Amino acid sequence: QTKLEAKAKDPYPDWKAGTPVPYAALCTTFSLIELTTKRLIITEHCALFLRQVLRLTPEDFLPTVLLMINKLAPDYAGIELGIGESLIMKAIGETTGRSLQVIKADQKEIGDLGLVAVKSRSTQPTMFKPKPLTVRGVHKGLMDVATVTGNGAQARKVDLIKKLLSAADAHSTGRVDISKDKGGPSEAKYLVRFLEGKLRLGLAEKTVLVSIAQAVISHELEQSGKAPTTTQMEEAEALLKSVYSELPSWDVIIPAMVKDGIMNLKDTCKLRPGVPLKPMLAKPTKAITEVLDRFENQTFTCEYKYDGERAQIHYVTKDRADDYIDTVPSATKEAAKGVASIFSRNSEDLSKKYPDILAKLDTWIKEGTKSFVLDCETVAWDVMEKKVLPFQQLMTRKKKDVKVEDVKVKVCVFAFDLLYLNGAAVVEKSLRERRELLYKAFNPVEGEFAFATHMNGQELDEIQVFLDESVKASCEGLMVKMLDGLESGYEPSKRSRNWLKIKKDYLSGVGDSLDLVVLGAYHGKGKRTSVYGAFLLACYNAASDTYETVCNIGTGFSEQVLEDLHKQLSEIVIDRPKPFYSHSSGGQHQPDVWFEPRYVWEIKTADLTLSPRYKAGCKEGVDPSGDKGISLRFPRFIKIRDDKKPDEATSSRQVAEMYRKQESVTKGPSVDDDF
Ligand code: ATP
Repeated sequence: QTKLEAKAKDPYPDWKAGTPVPYAALCTTFSLIELTTKRLIITEHCALFLRQVLRLTPEDFLPTVLLMINKLAPDYAGIELGIGESLIMKAIGETTGRSLQVIKADQKEIGDLGLVAVKSRSTQPTMFKPKPLTVRGVHKGLMDVATVTGNGAQARKVDLIKKLLSAADAHSTGRVDISKDKGGPSEAKYLVRFLEGKLRLGLAEKTVLVSIAQAVISHELEQSGKAPTTTQMEEAEALLKSVYSELPSWDVIIPAMVKDGIMNLKDTCKLRPGVPLKPMLAKPTKAITEVLDRFENQTFTCEYKYDGERAQIHYVTKDRADDYIDTVPSATKEAAKGVASIFSRNSEDLSKKYPDILAKLDTWIKEGTKSFVLDCETVAWDVMEKKVLPFQQLMTRKKKDVKVEDVKVKVCVFAFDLLYLNGAAVVEKSLRERRELLYKAFNPVEGEFAFATHMNGQELDEIQVFLDESVKASCEGLMVKMLDGLESGYEPSKRSRNWLKIKKDYLSGVGDSLDLVVLGAYHGKGKRTSVYGAFLLACYNAASDTYETVCNIGTGFSEQVLEDLHKQLSEIVIDRPKPFYSHSSGGQHQPDVWFEPRYVWEIKTADLTLSPRYKAGCKEGVDPSGDKGISLRFPRFIKIRDDKKPDEATSSRQVAEMYRKQESVTKGPSVDDDF
């Protein structure tokens, strides 16, 4: 470690001021991080490196940060690598002259494709020395992999990966000892892990954010010969965190920060139409009395909980087009009198799915409404009966390249919050004020645009009646929200206790359904022989970046669904579990096949219990011996959650919270959910 540390401090011989950041330098920092699990040390390594980037090559600050957080662009840009394990293995094989069979055998034995790449590399004599990799070159190369489309795209992706892999480690000296050093600062290892979507360094985006703040403030003060005090450091972190929650785009924040300084971000980077915010989320409850306990002595409001798809609509009129950050022109659609885009719960572009909404948007806006960001739910609408249709109807709509004239399932937009209006963010205003602004800015149109039905009564009986009405109106239950005061402000990206959900189905159960990742499956028996008969599901542990198993499930699937799932899942079978899957190692509990972590399913359960067979919440202290995890009893499949990525699945912490809460009521602070 000391050697590596010395190397990290030693300014790379090839890295002179103004020259591109060597990828090898970043990989050395990664390998230092890999040697520790201590958050403070990880943060320090990151901050030291970023500071060096600012000193020598500030123009590479953005790609460096992106490679650290395993992203190529913000989520709303919709840029995905689109490659699985088999393609990566092919590229490793072809680069190093080893057969696919050998690579597969290695993968079976080692279980980490990054290390397989290191091993393959070290047995290959170097014929010629390609140019060393740079951070900006790797970012561009990976971007090329992601954006290849059309005929033969897969083969071209493999070629592009090969190009990067053959330049990896070309300049490193000596063989890397895998067993001793976890592969050491190998470029191939981190390249492959990036391609797999997991660097596995315990480097959460939140940690990188803190490092960015520390690096920038230290660098800025260094110019005038000073070092930051602890208070200055904390101020910078708090500021960056708040700016990022309103404008979650490093593509916008970093250039502004490098140009005008971190403390000026308050003025230079504010919530703006065009960049989607991570939405505010709710905590589950399982009784109305629980809601009353939580909001004791506070005013609250109840709204129908519509069962559709969350949508964030961003809009500016043409004369205000400058207010719009058009970082992803493809996401932006022309409405008749303005520019607009629609984003999903996880910031993906929905504009191509809902051209019918964009076409009508102008007609719902009152005179004087020039720009806005609206939080709402799109719900399938029965035009004849003039009522809400079940979620399943909405799912039958095509997801991309929809033409207005082909739309069969009409949607109605139910607006429940306003985050930005006429040039200014309104997230800090109380919900009562935001609601007033919302009502003043829009015109409801039957079957197209409505305000979420609400009721401000504070009595148990009134809430019970309103809940029954919501269910009669085909809603899932109620959302209960703090109405006045500071606490009723909109909290982007938080699962907040200022928003509670009461789902009709879960009163007296566990309070909510879970969204879980499919990791494996068991071959079917009897009637189910040609499909998978049961599946292994997991929740996500954000702290350790692992998937922890939580149950096997074989109930709730129709035959057709099982067939569809078999087809879909067969394409992502892998030879052995990923190293970031946490499951009991007992032989009899292993599924017949393992999958890449890709699909999220909504699952209903009767209750939660402890079991030595599963790992969910093991690290959350639910079982004093630490051996048992939490598992679901009588789990039932509800639906596929297309709008959630695997790392947005129910977290281990939430599962533990649900387990503990089986007996008690909502307590504790709001927690960051998606971020
Ligand atoms: P769920 O499976 O319950 O939708 P979730 O994790 O997607 O869970 P939650 O915060 O737990 O999100 O539940 C709130 C969701 O309910 C929102 O994401 C939104 O899509 C939907 N919703 C429907 N009506 C409302 C409303 N009036 N206010 C807020 N959210 C609403």
